[in-house]
Amino acid sequence: RLNKHTGGVRSFSTCPRLQAVMQAWVIDHYGDNSVFRFTKNAAFPSILYPNEVIVQVHAAALNPLDVNMRGGYGAATMAMKRDPLNINKSGSEFPLILGRDVSGVIMECGLDVAYFKPGDQVWAAIPPWKQGSLSEFVVLSANEVSHKPKSLSHTDAVSIPYVAATAWSALVNTASLNKDNCSKKRILILGGSGGVGTFAIQLLKSWGGHVTVTCSQNAEGLVRSLGADDVVDYSSGSVERKLSAKDKFDVVLDNVGGETEKWASALLRPWSGAKYVTLVTPFLRNTDRLGLADGMMQNFVTIATKAVKHLRTGVHYRWGFFSPSGSALDDVSEMVDAGKIRPVVEKTFSFSQVPQAMEKVEQGHARGKIVVTVV
Ligand code: NDP
Repeated sequence: RLNKHTGGVRSFSTCPRLQAVMQAWVIDHYGDNSVFRFTKNAAFPSILYPNEVIVQVHAAALNPLDVNMRGGYGAATMAMKRDPLNINKSGSEFPLILGRDVSGVIMECGLDVAYFKPGDQVWAAIPPWKQGSLSEFVVLSANEVSHKPKSLSHTDAVSIPYVAATAWSALVNTASLNKDNCSKKRILILGGSGGVGTFAIQLLKSWGGHVTVTCSQNAEGLVRSLGADDVVDYSSGSVERKLSAKDKFDVVLDNVGGETEKWASALLRPWSGAKYVTLVTPFLRNTDRLGLADGMMQNFVTIATKAVKHLRTGVHYRWGFFSPSGSALDDVSEMVDAGKIRPVVEKTFSFSQVPQAMEKVEQGHARGKIVVTVV
């Protein structure tokens, strides 16, 4: 993945850059699904830094974050990431393109990009402060991009990057799990049937962990087919009571949040380094509500208070976050090609059906991922 100076922008010869505009689904303000607008005149992305690449999007996938961002969630933090010096006027993020997963072909490389060349088939999870993949082309840093698994079509591959990068960040970076230390670990995944859950089950099983999953009764077949050892139906009876009757866990990955946080850490083996990691955090809501400075202060106070409270009971409390990582996706790509991880696509929509695809995500009850074919 080392970049070295190569001396020029390189373009995909069969896909010359002739256009200054492209097709995209954009939003011009925050709101419900009616804010989506299809345009043939979206600004074509430009390479501004030497480590960037332009990817021609073949397929995109949706996440709950897209629905939330459509409504303005995280706007304060994203504005700070896009414009740290606060030079632009408010609303300068519009027209905004959503879509966090991309699978496609490298079309153009910046001067310093050595790991990729035009024509390479790649996948990536796009950070939420960047323009997304519901468009024909997207610009990314080369370190966010990875060669896609050879064994998958773009439509299948695109279901993986964002949930993989999130699960990897939460399980590897935050919960300190990896392929060498998982075999004797008991891991509980709260919410196993959605995007993050279906990926996390497979990752942990391929590393030899013992995986218990909570989900609705009608998702049991799916999560078992992905390797879950023990499945608990949360929709009938007390899930807390059912889980309390089981052996203690080394890690809890919480994809559900809310009430679960009140009881889930008690399921961990105390004084053994066990960790509760939740993906459902108030981080962005605090900065949206209180502004950046006060919101960050509130976040610090909340996480510190909870971490200390949990430490007294002998367990660790952590917030997990999506983190873009081309190198993590390289590892995942190998695991996919080795047959250890498979895509879980619930439904595929055409590019003209983006609002319907978003509506499907908004309805909840995901069973894997919603994918949009672009090419
Ligand atoms: P999905 O919508 O794909 O999946 C959520 C799943 O949880 C669905 O299958 C749903 O099915 C199931 N579910 C709902 N309620 C419960 C419950 N009480 N117990 C068990 N299962 C339940 O979401 P993702 O997997 O993509 O993401 C999971 C969460 O993580 C979301 O809240 C998301 O916003 C958050 N997230 C946070 C990130 C971060 O950076 N912090 C990054 C990525 C995701 P059903 O309702 O039928 O049971």
